[in-house]
Amino acid sequence: TNSVSGVLADEAATLELGGRLARASGPGLVVHLLGDLGAGKTTFSRGFLQGLGHHGRVKSPTYTLVESYPLADFTVHHFDLYRFADPEEWDDAGFRDLFGPDATCLVEWPDKAGGLLPAADIVLELVPAGNSRTYRLQAITLAGQQCLNRLST
Ligand code: ADP
Ligand code: MG
Repeated sequence: TNSVSGVLADEAATLELGGRLARASGPGLVVHLLGDLGAGKTTFSRGFLQGLGHHGRVKSPTYTLVESYPLADFTVHHFDLYRFADPEEWDDAGFRDLFGPDATCLVEWPDKAGGLLPAADIVLELVPAGNSRTYRLQAITLAGQQCLNRLST
């Protein structure tokens, strides 16, 4: 499956989609989250983490740029690069080392990192539509396609 799209009627639907994608995924997946402020990127990430059994808080990494969640089987790194300004910070902060086969990375505002960010396996775009949202999940790599296959069965 290359692409899955639909409508998310409310916050619960966004959480549910995040949970379903998480359970269809394996470690090492890179997901880029596109959409304006308030589109639901952090809500989706919260659902993703809850879908992997995380019970604690999921706070927006607006100021910290990344929040990391060591879960039972692998770690999820949740980035918000909205305030990312200095490409040197990418290496200084060791962000590059957070990407690899053992970790899943969810990235809000991927464009802010320019070419520094590892390529996405899946891109999610969220668009406000009245009081709800529309979404489109697009697989970029084979790993992304396999994940969307599991999602839609
Ligand atoms: P972002 O991280 O994209 O800036 P957030 O997830 O922080 O967005 O905030 C999204 C806001 O929209 C929250 O108030 C959330 O409750 C709400 N929301 C999330 N998904 C939906 C949806 N499908 N329909 C309506 N409201 C939603
Ligand atoms: Mg956010």
